[in-house]
Amino acid sequence: MAGRIHYAKPSITDLEIGYAADAVAHGWGERCYEWIGRFERLFREHLGVGHAIATSSCTGALHMGLAGLGVGPGDEVILADINWIASAAPVVHLGATPVLIDVLPDTWCIDPERAEAAIGPRTKAIIAVHLYGNLCDMDALLDLGRRRGIPVVEDAAEAIGSAWRGRPAGSLGRFGTFSFHGTKTITTGEGGMFVTDDEALHERVQMLSNHGRSASQTRQFWPDTVGFKYKMSNVEAAIGCGQLERIDQLVAAKRRILAAYRTRLAGLPVRMNPEPPGTVNGAWMPTVVVAEGVPFDRETLLAEFKAADIDGRVFFWPLSGLAVPARLGPGGAPVAAALHRRAVNLPSYHDLDDAGIDRVCRVLERHLGGCRDRCDAVAA
Ligand SMILES: *Cc1c(COP(=O)(O)O)cnc(C)c1O
Repeated sequence: MAGRIHYAKPSITDLEIGYAADAVAHGWGERCYEWIGRFERLFREHLGVGHAIATSSCTGALHMGLAGLGVGPGDEVILADINWIASAAPVVHLGATPVLIDVLPDTWCIDPERAEAAIGPRTKAIIAVHLYGNLCDMDALLDLGRRRGIPVVEDAAEAIGSAWRGRPAGSLGRFGTFSFHGTKTITTGEGGMFVTDDEALHERVQMLSNHGRSASQTRQFWPDTVGFKYKMSNVEAAIGCGQLERIDQLVAAKRRILAAYRTRLAGLPVRMNPEPPGTVNGAWMPTVVVAEGVPFDRETLLAEFKAADIDGRVFFWPLSGLAVPARLGPGGAPVAAALHRRAVNLPSYHDLDDAGIDRVCRVLERHLGGCRDRCDAVAA
């Protein structure tokens, strides 16, 4: 066997290594913010937004952004039921309740009509999470936000490289957040970014991000409020600068892998990440959803991947079904529940080659091939 196929792994070159080495050796004293400033500038330019604040994680960026919007105890924030818990945790930390609603079957992202139906007097924000690179229906959500006076924010952690009618994911909402965790399309090890075009919100989040010290403070160590400490380090930012210089190449690699899976699996009764007209899918995580009616057992398939030294991953769990003590809001999302049962994430690290893709597809074909006659019956 040709070695383990990881599901995600960063692409690091001499460029990132050189930048990081400079930051470690020289990025102190008067140069202690240099790489951070450069990374924020490059990111602003890449996304075409007015403001960017580098953070230690996407979770932290989301926490500060929601705090900056004034989300607090007793408030409600609407998001899709099927998500990584990082999108909901900041809502809980602020004392608010995540209101979890179902997704659209084709995009796997929040259903705007159900989002509208869930709006109540305490609704403070709607979080549009672009799942696995797929895009939320931003026209519908932004229209909804405008009509009802509720800010729509974007968790674009999985959507760098995705675009909605020519505009990059994360640049359309009141604010956007990104993750540079080691599994994401670009990485800094751990890290994140907060972006916005809203001048006042930027100022509030900037102040919150600096332990409540305003940029115009005249007294040292004088916080105006109790803030947060979610800063990115200069060394991490240096790695990020290298990654951002290579972003087109990194996204292209992700898109190549999704396209290769799509072509290869075209004959099977599965759907993959959609890319409707007017959108670009950054293809962070190629995912197959097995058609309803086709006999399929996720756990068996994952075990078969494991036996072949391949990392497959479960589609996120519906948050409303988690056994966590915090109440994660009313659930009951049949589309999300069905997706979770019938979907798996496929390996997609940037350097995954055709031979690797072939190995993954053969396991999948064998698993679903065992039901080929029945599949044909379902398709007929
Ligand atoms: C990875 C991820 C996060 C969390 O990012 P961190 O940088 O680990 O905090 C948040 N939201 C989504 C949608 C993610 O995929």
